[in-house]
Amino acid sequence: MIEEYAVPAASRPTVAVAGSKLRFPVRRIFCVGRNYPEHSREMGFTGRAPPFFFSKPADSVMPNGSAVPYPPRTANLHHEIELVVALGRGGRDVAAGDALGLVFGYAVGNDLTRRDVQAAAKDAGRPWDTAKGFDHAAPVTPVVPVATCGHPAKGRIWLEVNGQPRQQGDLADMIWSVPEVIAELSTWFELAPGDLIFTGTPAGVGPLKPGDRVRGGVDGVGVLEHTVVAP
Ligand code: MN
Repeated sequence: MIEEYAVPAASRPTVAVAGSKLRFPVRRIFCVGRNYPEHSREMGFTGRAPPFFFSKPADSVMPNGSAVPYPPRTANLHHEIELVVALGRGGRDVAAGDALGLVFGYAVGNDLTRRDVQAAAKDAGRPWDTAKGFDHAAPVTPVVPVATCGHPAKGRIWLEVNGQPRQQGDLADMIWSVPEVIAELSTWFELAPGDLIFTGTPAGVGPLKPGDRVRGGVDGVGVLEHTVVAP
């Protein structure tokens, strides 16, 4: 069957796969909010409330080494370094004990955030889309297959800006572990191959400006590097 579209059809966003010529096709990007107690506290919460989910558009991914344009309509763009889970299988109502079987691999991502817009949305009870789901909002490293990196459950997660340390934490501090994140998420959405899950950020989030060099990583997974450039 030949399909013809009424308007130009967007191509599917993809992420590189480490050590392979194959690409990881991005279906959806889910994100976990407040999954590290210290970050929850720095945002003004107790650090004991359950995390929650929001999402970004699939085409907000940016490859490692990108020049990320400073987004419009913010004066407070923030970095959030995160472990990213890449799903190779789907499912719904997945038991935590089965959840790691869905994982194709792991990456390191920056959940870029218009913090001022997010704060205004919280105050007004409005959605977070413009704060989290803007163009170029998800720089991410190549996906490292599980066969290479295993399932990281502890290890350093960190970010520096212009060589200065900003964020520091350990995967072991996550309120919801990766299996718990997948299990919870699968009660809200039917998951599918190609889904990316940003699993939350440790403490130390802060502002970026044009000219900044961002470098962050997760031990055993990879190092994300990008710059921020004037729009
Ligand atoms: Mn985040």
